Amino acid sequence: MQDNSGGFGGLPLKPSTLRTLIQLGYLEPTAVQAEGLPHALAGKDLIAQAETGSGKTAVFALALLANLNQRRFAAQSLVLCPTRELADQVAAEIRRLARGDENVKVIVLCGGVPLRNQTSSLAHGAHVVVGTPGRIMDHLERGSLRLDAVNTLVLDEADRMLDMGFVDDMIRIAAACPAERQTLLFSATYPEGIEKLAARFLKNPVRISAEVRRRDDAIDERAYEVREENRFDAVASLLTHFRPESALAFCNTRLRCRDLTEDLRRRGFSVLELQGELDQWEREQVLARFSGRSVGVLVATDVASRGLDIERLEAVVNVDISPDPEVYTHRVGRTARAGETGLALSLFDAGELALIKRIEGYRSREIPRFDLPALPPTETPPPMPPMATLQILSGRKDKIRAGDVLGALTGDAGYAKERIGRIKISESCVYVAVERAMAEEAVRKLNEGRIKGKSVRVRLLGYS
Ligand code: AMP
Repeated sequence: MQDNSGGFGGLPLKPSTLRTLIQLGYLEPTAVQAEGLPHALAGKDLIAQAETGSGKTAVFALALLANLNQRRFAAQSLVLCPTRELADQVAAEIRRLARGDENVKVIVLCGGVPLRNQTSSLAHGAHVVVGTPGRIMDHLERGSLRLDAVNTLVLDEADRMLDMGFVDDMIRIAAACPAERQTLLFSATYPEGIEKLAARFLKNPVRISAEVRRRDDAIDERAYEVREENRFDAVASLLTHFRPESALAFCNTRLRCRDLTEDLRRRGFSVLELQGELDQWEREQVLARFSGRSVGVLVATDVASRGLDIERLEAVVNVDISPDPEVYTHRVGRTARAGETGLALSLFDAGELALIKRIEGYRSREIPRFDLPALPPTETPPPMPPMATLQILSGRKDKIRAGDVLGALTGDAGYAKERIGRIKISESCVYVAVERAMAEEAVRKLNEGRIKGKSVRVRLLGYS
């Protein structure tokens, strides 16, 4: 038989699925698909480090569809996602991939929609359930959802679900699924909590890690020749010229980080230093503020930034060039995640030209040289971040979930959902990013109101 199914042809997929893949234009598997699908389709448990844009959804979608019996009207696959937006996207991808099969019913169960409507849809029978842990728990508690026929459990963006305080819900939901099942865990990062979760839920998992193959033009790399004494001026003019909402500035030494941070702060930039000596609590605050887009520039060494994962980073600045070409690749690869584009701006003085050439040789491509934009007039205010971060002094130990915080801000306090950014739940507090203009008022309203029936203490983290 002629194999016209491209790179998916060697996998144990039904002919109708192979046809669907071709119709969708999925001709070659992405890295995570090439590595993950053979194991997932063989029924193995999987831990995959993969971010949005990697093609990870198709890995678990094809696995759960392969395990599905349409004639059985019961939930056979359950996909847990951190947010409603992701759940909607995942459901759409599953439906797309299932279109060659007859009558696969996919249902989305997330908050924000009356439970009653979902209950009646469930009563009509769904094969695949996609939803957020909070709402799935609500249905389990009411008895409107049964998981005893689930043969595939997927945890998508598991790190974010941990961040959002869903760990207890995930544990209870997994316990409600049969022990005999396939479990697939996807996570962009590997914080310690993921290992614990994996040890609890997965059996002899296969581990894979797939870097997203970015389009070559996804990262706009530019190099600027500077004189050592003008290096900080150059950083300031680039930040003012390109106005990235979030920029990570790499220095080779701790001392350089400190000097640059002080210099940028003096010029009025919103900047923080991520240094190795911060304790866990301080580091958590710095990261929450930066990833919540309430600080524009984070200055760090390679060591201090290890394990850092920021979803949307518009720019990386190499304040110094690293002598190690791999470090360069690693630094610039932090921007342009999740299918977006990014800037990588590198400063070099005459002594560092050889390092730039070495990087170019190592990567077999040039880093285009540009002239520095003019330094902005001193009266021009530096760009301000769009958000500010509030800290609520109650956290996971008080059983607060992201939905409770969102509910307090959109319900009693009356703010539109769009004005609220990233919410991170830690053991003893919650960080929530809100539009800068409403920050002080939101602190007041939350301090006066209640979350989950309890009064809470809230403060605004510094504006610097
Ligand atoms: P994901 O990382 O799962 O969100 O997928 C990112 C995008 O890539 C989605 O729009 C998919 O439809 C698309 N995609 C996934 N796999 C492939 C493939 N093998 N070839 C082309 N596009 C794909």
